[in-house]
Amino acid sequence: MNDYAASLSSWVEVDLEAIRNNVRWIKENSSVQVMAVVKADAYGHGAIPVSHAAIQAGASWLGVARIEEALELRKGGISTPIVLFGYLPPHKLVPALQLDLSLTVWREDQINALENAAKERNCSARLHLKIDSGMGRIGAQPEEVTALARKIHHSRHLVFEGVFTHFACADKRDHQTTDRQMDIFCRCLEELSPYLRPDTVIHSSNSAAVLSRKDSLFNLVRLGIAMYGLQPSEEWMLPSAFRPALSWKTVLSHIKTLPPGRGISYGHRYITQKTERIGTIPVGYADGYRRWNGNIVLVKGSIAPIVGRVCMDQCMVQLDDVPQASCGDEVVLIGEQGRQRIRAEDIANIWGTINYEVVCGIGKRVPRIYLNE
Ligand SMILES: *Cc1c(COP(=O)(O)O)cnc(C)c1O
Repeated sequence: MNDYAASLSSWVEVDLEAIRNNVRWIKENSSVQVMAVVKADAYGHGAIPVSHAAIQAGASWLGVARIEEALELRKGGISTPIVLFGYLPPHKLVPALQLDLSLTVWREDQINALENAAKERNCSARLHLKIDSGMGRIGAQPEEVTALARKIHHSRHLVFEGVFTHFACADKRDHQTTDRQMDIFCRCLEELSPYLRPDTVIHSSNSAAVLSRKDSLFNLVRLGIAMYGLQPSEEWMLPSAFRPALSWKTVLSHIKTLPPGRGISYGHRYITQKTERIGTIPVGYADGYRRWNGNIVLVKGSIAPIVGRVCMDQCMVQLDDVPQASCGDEVVLIGEQGRQRIRAEDIANIWGTINYEVVCGIGKRVPRIYLNE
């Protein structure tokens, strides 16, 4: 039994060398600046350790979705430029300026409000102008872009630091939508050329685009899922040099042998067919392990099925194929054991979702343990 198995119910191990390895690969193969996207607590991996690792490996920007996420990074002593991609509530403008963030804008009222806030504080605000080239989420429409850029350019308290867009279908083999978005974005950039300086950052690529479209890198890429060593999609697989950073583990808390006809867990959705060895693991839906049929885990290097309903804090595993399993043995929910591996992508397939949602959903009460710090 290793130390974690003796002292924890369930834990996530994050290999920071895998993060550094993945960032380095992108740096070496793209020769543009890298923004490590660490929103959602670094996709469940832990924002501060992941940010440090990414910076060590050459990332020069960080990207977050919420001001609270940026606050955590600054409190953690990280002074690297941070771009806040998303919505900034009106009462948070001043705190955002105090945290020295680069802020996303796409409407005139946002620019005016930031101009006023910066003026009052006698500081300047660094802005990234977001263009909606076809994602349909946030961003200025292409015909609005020039007027907004002019407004930022002529303001005494605003710095036009960057311009960006986001692709809707970069993870698909079909390139047409991304081609169209690239056309629109490039036409906007031409119109904006009077306002662009050599150090203005221009960015459009998420992980899938970094791997699939060399023409979309400009001078900065926003690296999320690939940094974690997870597949951008089934259609755009990572080169083999990438390594997943996250494993999710637990232990066998109990094992019993039951006669045929015994019901297992709430609702007795599973009934033993014969004499069966049933184990229990202290992981449940409150940890982000979904209450879903068809879950599998690794025990003693073999795949074993979860049987019966997943409870809030526990669930049961059928151990007939692993007679050597005993109480206290490590159980792998995501990761490798012996020669077997369960990827976040495999769990996503079982749950009918994507790997992003699997790792982002691992609960707060599951401690994160960092390897190769
Ligand atoms: C989350 C996010 C990314 C990162 O996307 P990945 O697919 O994880 O690489 C990039 N840009 C924006 C605007 C995002 O919100």
